[in-house]
Amino acid sequence: MPLQGRHAFITGGGRGIGLACARALLAQGASVTIAGRDAAALENAATTLRASIVAPRKTGNPVSDPLGRTPTIQMPRVAVSVLDVTDEAAVHAAFTTAQQQLGPVTILLNNAGQAQPAPFAKTTSQHWQNMLDVNLTGAFHCTQAVLPQMLEQGWGRIVNIASTAGLKGYKYVSAYVAAKHGLVGLTRALALELATKNITVNAVCPGYTETDIVQDAIANIMQKTGRSEEQARAELAAGNPQQRLVQVEDVANAVAWLCQPASSAMTGQSIAVAGGEVM
Ligand code: NDP
Repeated sequence: MPLQGRHAFITGGGRGIGLACARALLAQGASVTIAGRDAAALENAATTLRASIVAPRKTGNPVSDPLGRTPTIQMPRVAVSVLDVTDEAAVHAAFTTAQQQLGPVTILLNNAGQAQPAPFAKTTSQHWQNMLDVNLTGAFHCTQAVLPQMLEQGWGRIVNIASTAGLKGYKYVSAYVAAKHGLVGLTRALALELATKNITVNAVCPGYTETDIVQDAIANIMQKTGRSEEQARAELAAGNPQQRLVQVEDVANAVAWLCQPASSAMTGQSIAVAGGEVM
């Protein structure tokens, strides 16, 4: 249980990649706060997560303890935080509440994101701003809100869920690509600033991953080209050298590793989880 006693705050933790990460961090002993805008969806997700908690195995031998003490086991807990990451005041209030509920937050997963497509010529300034607000400025707000707690604890892990769109270009999603490149840049700059503070900052960059976002992309291809769902899915998978869509657990496994104490020498990295699409 390498993360026993830790508290992870996961934005967009109610479904998709965020929920899979919550499951993975809970399994490693961390308590988790899952955050998003949809209170009912978060409560449902929290119920499922709580049901998955398995009591950690007792370590140590109370018989050989001269005082006969039983080792204490901290069971991981799950809390919910209803917030919009674009609302700075709400974000700061949420981190104060999270600390009161489950203790100092020492793991932050900036995962909340949206990927609305638009050809560049049809990208309005409102669309552009919305993509930057959700995918980049939201991470800025959350990171600023959590840092005092991590600095006080003298330990932290920040993982930004960027995208392969943070490492290369894609057509018709220029605002999203720009925002995700920005998130990779933020990862590198902040990793340097925090390098001596025992706080690592890394990005995980998934390729097309089987979640609602990809379902929307598939629906979009079907509508624009008249292709079947199977053909649309194959078109997305074709960009992945492994010829498959990434699964949420693939992303969660990389995130979980970056949150462990054992990954302490890795910082400022942007790791593609994309079957070799970017190398
Ligand atoms: P989902 O659409 O399944 O989940 C997105 C999550 O973000 C939801 O939980 C949603 O919760 C939350 N969210 C969206 N906007 C806001 C907001 N303004 N404030 C708070 N929460 C918000 O998508 P994925 O799981 O696929 O995406 C997770 C991350 O992974 C995103 O950053 C995405 O860009 C990235 N990614 C995904 C890829 C994919 O192919 N699926 C590929 C590469 C990167 P709610 O609606 O309740 O607010």
